[in-house]
Amino acid sequence: MMNTTCEVIRDLLALYHDGVCSDGSKSLVEEHLKNCSACQKELEMMDAELSTAQIQPKSVNSFKAAASAWKESKKKSFVKGTIITAVICVLLFAGFYGLMQWKCLSVSADDIEVTNLSQLSDGSIIFTLSMSSNQRSSYVKYTTTEDGEFYLTPMHSVIEMTGSMEAYSRYYIFYPSGFKTSEPEYPGIFLPENVKKIYVGPVGEGTLVWEEGMKVPAASEAVEKMFIAN
Ligand SMILES: [Zn+2]
Repeated sequence: MMNTTCEVIRDLLALYHDGVCSDGSKSLVEEHLKNCSACQKELEMMDAELSTAQIQPKSVNSFKAAASAWKESKKKSFVKGTIITAVICVLLFAGFYGLMQWKCLSVSADDIEVTNLSQLSDGSIIFTLSMSSNQRSSYVKYTTTEDGEFYLTPMHSVIEMTGSMEAYSRYYIFYPSGFKTSEPEYPGIFLPENVKKIYVGPVGEGTLVWEEGMKVPAASEAVEKMFIAN
């Protein structure tokens, strides 16, 4: 059984333990502890409680927290890395595809050949445009200059998949500005009023193919049959 002094000391012990009691109480507790093993034990238990309640769980928790934080950051950086890799792949592919599709370069006039320039019986001008095998293009740009020059400019991309393409060769039909038929039997290019010359190749560096007043041979029977019905 505890004596009265012990009871009073126990009340002070928690304060003493936390170091928040007055100096008078402190010396009273210390004096009592010298001679009372039961109260000493009580104080030791308070110290032990503190270490289990605060230090141990804290270190366990912080270890767990550190481990899960590490796992989490590993997972996050893996996801981040995957996203960055995917974005880079998409950009590279888009860039490559874009360079393949972006027909931004003119095929040189030296690589373009015009043959079979002739005139069909309806007055339209016809010729075959071909490109040498290393300069193929499926896209031809049309430009009309202020000087009345009409350019057919075959374009090619920076990266050209030449191996997969057929050599380019096709007919082009032009209706000079005086052309009267409102509905021609075949698709062609209606030349603007001011156009007096047709070039192939880059604008300003093309080869003259036709100009107004030029003597053009009549189309062969075979060509005439291909484009003029009846
Ligand atoms: Zn005591």
